Amino acid sequence: MKDNMTAAYLPGNSTVEMRTVPVPAPGHGEVLLRIKASTICGSDIRCIYHEHLGKGPEGYQGVIAGHEPCGQIVAAGEGCRRFKAGDRVIVYHISGCGVCNDCRRGYMISCTSEKYRRAYGWQRDGGMAEFMIAEEKDLIALPDALSYADGAQVACGFGTVFEGLEKIGIDGNHAVLITGLGPVGLATGALCRKLGANKIIGIDVVAERMKIALDLGLCDAVLKSGPDNVTQVKELTGGFGVERAVDCSANNAARATAIRATRKWGNIVFLGEGGTVEFNPSPDMIHDQKTIYGSWVTSTWLMEELVERLVRWNLHPADIITHRFALDRAADAYALMASGKCGKVAVCQDEELK
Ligand SMILES: [Zn+2]
Ligand SMILES: [Zn+2]
Repeated sequence: MKDNMTAAYLPGNSTVEMRTVPVPAPGHGEVLLRIKASTICGSDIRCIYHEHLGKGPEGYQGVIAGHEPCGQIVAAGEGCRRFKAGDRVIVYHISGCGVCNDCRRGYMISCTSEKYRRAYGWQRDGGMAEFMIAEEKDLIALPDALSYADGAQVACGFGTVFEGLEKIGIDGNHAVLITGLGPVGLATGALCRKLGANKIIGIDVVAERMKIALDLGLCDAVLKSGPDNVTQVKELTGGFGVERAVDCSANNAARATAIRATRKWGNIVFLGEGGTVEFNPSPDMIHDQKTIYGSWVTSTWLMEELVERLVRWNLHPADIITHRFALDRAADAYALMASGKCGKVAVCQDEELK
């Protein structure tokens, strides 16, 4: 085992700082992971890379970046009950106290303990390094049929989407509108396909993203965002609008489109973080008997079920990764993700870099 490793930090001025730090040793109930794939999230860009915006749960504490890691255990500390060296694992990206009501439901994302709630890559060291310490309770087994790059996107990306889609329900009766075709929007298209959605319509402004959605077959139709979107969606759905809409954009106008382009009795879920929305409750929602859901990340148990479904469906989240970088090129990876001209961007090591 080597003594030192390379790790990436985000000073908050749209740069990446590489440092050499000691390889940590796992404590009680912890494991040391060899990171194989670590993907970049929109929230990393929004809240950390450009500037340190977050407070509370989103406050970046100057730790090693990266909250979407996946790797192989190289050493297990004392007291581990299930996982051991050699196991391939996904990390649920927020480590909670484990004993509050939210943690007991599996939603460590909303752990109420100020002292113990620490997200990887925000308040405790994350995956943009050669190695990382994780708590055993935060681990999900990665099946052999999935790659590490698949696994890196299960917690924050595909997990967040699966949770939202389970809330609104998706099946063959449904036309689905996706506003925002970044990685979360692309994941929505991929999961809606497997859940049997009848028609999938996407909206975005970035040409590269619109093209990826069509090239990967994740949307049946893609619209450039604009004031005619509601009319266009109705034209694509026999004049009715969609039964389900998923906002992955966090954009005011796009959220209003998601609500207005949904037909009577339809469901809408908001996944995109930040921003605002303006709509007229009576005509846009109340009179049409619509329901709007909010959904924040997912739970450890639903992540386990998602992993099982991914294998059953032969669905590989890594398909939406358009660019892979070695760790020493992490700065290029963040800059590309910040440009938006890409699908998912991953920093990889070992077999995942080939
Ligand atoms: Zn994320
Ligand atoms: Zn808790």
